[in-house]
Amino acid sequence: MASRLRPCLLVHYHEISLKAGHRPMFLRHLRQNLERATADLQPVRVVQFPGRLMLDLEGNPNPETIKERVTRVCGVANLALAQRVPSSVDAIKSAVGRMVEGRQFESFRITARRAFKTYPLTSVEINRELGTFVLERVRTRVDLTNPALTIHVEVLPNETFIYFDQEPGPGGLPVGSSGTVVSLLSGGIDSPVAAWRMMKRGCRVEFVHFHSVPYLPPTSQQKARALVERLTQWQFFSRLYLVPFGEIQREVVLSVPPPARVVVYRRLMVRIAEALARQTGAPALVTGESLGQVASQTLPNLARINEAATLPILRPLIGMDKQEITAQAQALGTFEISIEPDQDCCTLFVPKHPATRMAPDEIQILEERLDLSALVRAGVEGAVLEAFEFPKGAGPFPVHRARATEEEPLSP
Ligand code: ATP
Ligand code: MG
Repeated sequence: MASRLRPCLLVHYHEISLKAGHRPMFLRHLRQNLERATADLQPVRVVQFPGRLMLDLEGNPNPETIKERVTRVCGVANLALAQRVPSSVDAIKSAVGRMVEGRQFESFRITARRAFKTYPLTSVEINRELGTFVLERVRTRVDLTNPALTIHVEVLPNETFIYFDQEPGPGGLPVGSSGTVVSLLSGGIDSPVAAWRMMKRGCRVEFVHFHSVPYLPPTSQQKARALVERLTQWQFFSRLYLVPFGEIQREVVLSVPPPARVVVYRRLMVRIAEALARQTGAPALVTGESLGQVASQTLPNLARINEAATLPILRPLIGMDKQEITAQAQALGTFEISIEPDQDCCTLFVPKHPATRMAPDEIQILEERLDLSALVRAGVEGAVLEAFEFPKGAGPFPVHRARATEEEPLSP
């Protein structure tokens, strides 16, 4: 009797499989994120198999939506809608028979993998046996190099997964597995891309946006919200601090000459972001700076900005050029939001010709004229916190215990 086909989404990871000791911790994050990505849909059971994860889609009415959500789960190397059957040669053949039935493909190949070596057939034998089986049923031919259809067969001890098309995932590491960072988010093109790159390296990102309301209209806040909303699709829950910066800039303008202002503003932003990062326990800051892109992003000025921080400032775009960053922003869907016209807080009171090489003692002399701790306090105390969730029901991040000893074993 032919056994039932049971639909599922099969997820492979790559980098996580290279982590010997901490693999269970990474996998737990990945599994939780898969559940969060689909939290609003009919509950999806995520099952761990050696080397892969499976989302059980039996009876689920939303397989395509689930697949689309999983394309944004960092740590996923590739994904495929698959059918699961028992691992007997007969069950596999019968499933392949039903899956190719009525399908036209002028050429094909079988790509079989055995996840354990005690299976009665080798991968080559499975390929041959199933290949012959397909040729008996469909008018087609075998093409190993450029097939119109690839039939993937993954044989595990109790179950076999069969699928045709495999899609790439984002790769990287699961959000949350590397800890939390605080990202300085302007309304520009670069900083959303920088934040996303850190998500891809496993960071949960909290956002800080500096605005100049009431000196400027609230457009920049709306852009920041729209950007965070878009990026939340990759981490499911975000927090955004909106920090009033206009009054602080006015103070700077009163005592700092125009060429030095940008670096002084940036150092104040970094100090305020750092104070907020300490509140959430984040051990690093992130900016969208790229070397040489503008005057505040020369090596000497980046050094001056670093000196205002005690936490590391991560700059994932430092070696990227504008075209590469723009292409990434377009792929993420942040570009359209970033190019909306708006007056950034840094366009307020900003000189035409900022200094490109500030020296440490120059900055120090200028900042002595400011009451730095009062300015930082005003920023931190004025910050308004907003929360974002995608999908509905994803909820705030769970607190993870990082000890590998508490993990459950790998097999289901
Ligand atoms: P972006 O496109 O991200 O605005 P940019 O190339 O325009 O970057 P700058 O305006 O010099 O560069 O800003 C450098 C970095 O400082 C930004 O990438 C961002 O991380 C941070 N930053 C600048 N303005 C703000 C702001 N208003 N709120 C939060 N962070 C900011
Ligand atoms: Mg900018």
